[in-house]
Amino acid sequence: MTKIGSSETFYETIKDYTMERQNILCVDDEPGILGVLSEMLIEFGCDCEVAHDGLEALEKFKKGSFTIVITDLEMPKMNGMDLIREIAKEYPDVDTIAITGYNAKYQYTDLIEIGASDFITKPFHANELQAKLNRLIRERVLKTELTRLSMKDGLTNLNNRRSFDIRLREEVGRAVRQRYNLFLMLFDIDKFKNYNDQYGHQEGDAVLIAMTEVIAESTRKDVDVGYRYGGDEFALIIPQANRKQCKGIANRLCGNYERRNFAPTSLSVGIAKLEDIGENVKDNVSNLIRQTDEALYNCKRNGGNGIVFYGEDDHS
Ligand code: GH3
Ligand code: MG
Repeated sequence: MTKIGSSETFYETIKDYTMERQNILCVDDEPGILGVLSEMLIEFGCDCEVAHDGLEALEKFKKGSFTIVITDLEMPKMNGMDLIREIAKEYPDVDTIAITGYNAKYQYTDLIEIGASDFITKPFHANELQAKLNRLIRERVLKTELTRLSMKDGLTNLNNRRSFDIRLREEVGRAVRQRYNLFLMLFDIDKFKNYNDQYGHQEGDAVLIAMTEVIAESTRKDVDVGYRYGGDEFALIIPQANRKQCKGIANRLCGNYERRNFAPTSLSVGIAKLEDIGENVKDNVSNLIRQTDEALYNCKRNGGNGIVFYGEDDHS
């Protein structure tokens, strides 16, 4: 996996993912074909389950977490074309390979059009199936890694600003719908330019990298998500909490940062609570960011190294 602040190359990073086992569902009304397919897949190192028609396949989908489906086309109850359409609609992250003996009836282009990833005609060799699966797995790995990279900050491995914008919109929408509290915290390193000037840019980078640990030590695991908002500024989205808990998190952030002795720097923290201003999600989001920014600005104006809640304007 990617190491924080390392210079690992893209291809070194994805090597780890290629080792992930694929969970494949094979769908065919002929038990003999299912037996042969299962043997081949287990031989390739994949996990494999079987279904005898499209409906049974969809039932299994609700219970299992499959990454790839290999399906016959002519089947009772629900045929392969309908199954591929349904999977493309409901489970867009799953890849499907269609296998059929009726190759005159089905066009490769039609199958791709409805959402299949590939097509194999019977009879086929194990080599052909393995080659097509390998290509598919490689593409899945690249897609996962590209998505991850587009959401991560390369230096700290924290979620980046793009990821913040997407997540905050989702969280604000959910908090208003489900009527729970949501807080936003923005914190900026004080006198960071001085630190860079005094110790050099690389030491400055080490401070930013240390923020990943400071955030992890100070927040609720898997609930509060930290982001590098830009430069020396960070953000935390805090759902389902109260003011006291937020102040607790902010105090722990400042304390855990101070313990690391990055003098002359310190942290300034601004916090605001989401208000449903009765407009759309976009307006609620920009209002929340504006109020949190204002709290952070007030903290800086008070001399930094502190915590300010929007509307309270205290320096605790
Ligand atoms: P203030 O106390 O008002 O917060 O000022 P400051 O000196 O901390 O500087 P400010 O927040 O206005 O600007 C952020 C500085 O952070 C500017 C830039 O030199 C530095 N910086 C931004 N990104 C990086 C980075 O990736 N690595 C390092 N080492 N420094 C960075
Ligand atoms: Mg700063």
